[in-house]
Amino acid sequence: MSELKLYNTLSRQKELFKPIVPGHAGLYVCGPTVYSDVHLGNCRTFISFDIIYRYLCYLGYKVRYVRNITDAGHLEGDHDEGDDKFSKKARLEQLEPMEIVQRYTLGFHKVMDLFNALPPTIEPAATGHITEQIKMAQQIIDNGYGYVVNGTVYFDVEKYSKEKPYGILTNRKLEDLLEGTRELGGQDEKRGRLDFALWIKAGPEHLMQWPSPWGMGFPGWHIECSAMSEKYLGKQFDIHGGGMDLAATHHTNEIAQSQACYHVSPANYWLHTNMLTVNGVRMSKSAGNGFLPGQLFSGDHPLLEKAYSPMNVRFFMLQTHYRSTLDFSNEALQAAEKGLKRLWDAYENLKKLEAGSPESAVDEELDKKVKILISEFDVFMDDDFNTSKVLANMFELVPVINSMKDKIVPVTSLSAETLTLLQRQFKVYLEDVLGLKSVTETDDNKLKGVIDLLIEIRKEAKSKKDFATSDRIRNQLASLGIALKDEKGGGMSWSIE
Ligand code: AMP
Ligand code: ZN
Repeated sequence: MSELKLYNTLSRQKELFKPIVPGHAGLYVCGPTVYSDVHLGNCRTFISFDIIYRYLCYLGYKVRYVRNITDAGHLEGDHDEGDDKFSKKARLEQLEPMEIVQRYTLGFHKVMDLFNALPPTIEPAATGHITEQIKMAQQIIDNGYGYVVNGTVYFDVEKYSKEKPYGILTNRKLEDLLEGTRELGGQDEKRGRLDFALWIKAGPEHLMQWPSPWGMGFPGWHIECSAMSEKYLGKQFDIHGGGMDLAATHHTNEIAQSQACYHVSPANYWLHTNMLTVNGVRMSKSAGNGFLPGQLFSGDHPLLEKAYSPMNVRFFMLQTHYRSTLDFSNEALQAAEKGLKRLWDAYENLKKLEAGSPESAVDEELDKKVKILISEFDVFMDDDFNTSKVLANMFELVPVINSMKDKIVPVTSLSAETLTLLQRQFKVYLEDVLGLKSVTETDDNKLKGVIDLLIEIRKEAKSKKDFATSDRIRNQLASLGIALKDEKGGGMSWSIE
């Protein structure tokens, strides 16, 4: 198999990917908390993992990709304070919490679909796995790392850290972690400042609550991912992913829970995506700078100069490595729009090229250059999924393709084998690995059908020397931003300007 290297947050270096079961890959990604619409920052993380999933499949792995739905237990603070997000929203909107969950889960799926992100192979919801979470919390208590106070179960970080390093994921010492937390007050139930809840006692204001050995309550946020990853991927699995902001608390606590429960670290490789920022500030629901994908697609937001299509946005994200921050700007999105169009036009041109003869006409230097540029697609992706470098190589190939299409360079400059390889790898990479779709179709085959029909009518008009009709069609389409172009040999192509 390939030489895939992943940057592992745990070791802070790139490591060769060695799956637990050869040929199989287990991937767990923390999914959305479905109490409101996902913003573009969330989408960046999910699109990055879509690429990782797609590339693992491309390499031939049989991937089990689990991405959960957090539909209970995520309190407003990432620790154990604040309101239950679902109960609060349900009260605000006078809906059942499960109506909130349903509404935003459907919205999330729709957005992922528009971005052409593949669904995970399993999408478990926290509320469907209450028994598993209770069982795990009980085991942690039985193993001596959990304690119960007044119906709430806490994880004993101090006890744990005497035996195992806590905070290894972000390479932080216990003293430094303690410094970042507030002193416990008299009314606090926790024994230690870093202790976190595995199970939380529900007050009457909590609309979603379940019976447990400790009374009515609901699960803590961290235990959800530990219980569900164990259920579907086993106590130890290959890759665990999420946004970088989850590493310090959520993932740190997941590691502690698995160690305390099963005496193993859950995942071998921890992958974290960097943040999408707006003017340098992390996009988040609480900062109020979160564009909703729908606002982007309609252009309906004061910070947006125009509407951007889902593929435009996806392409914009792929131009930056997933571990670098990505700053949102209209200029960058408009540049990406032009770039994607240029790339896709070249791809359409490439599909139409047919190998010629004789082989003796092959330009050896060009042929070699093209072969190297193509072979590097895999090399760059093997180097921690470097999509931006793959795209850079594709852009180097664009003028080669276009000059063959315009017959500036004969198609015979490339050997038949290289041309076929170029066609195949462009298709596989653009469509399967990078998950891009045609921009000309504007996701609308009907539009394509209508324009083709108009082209047909115009052709008939011209053949009858009815130039008034033929000009009218051309001009009317041009005013809508659709340009018609005569091709050599009497054909006609069109593009959206
Ligand atoms: P949440 O719905 O808040 O649980 O977040 C879902 C995912 O989005 C998590 O993996 C977060 O780390 C990630 N995320 C949140 N904000 C951003 C951002 N600005 N850029 C990239 N990923 C983010
Ligand atoms: Zn999680």
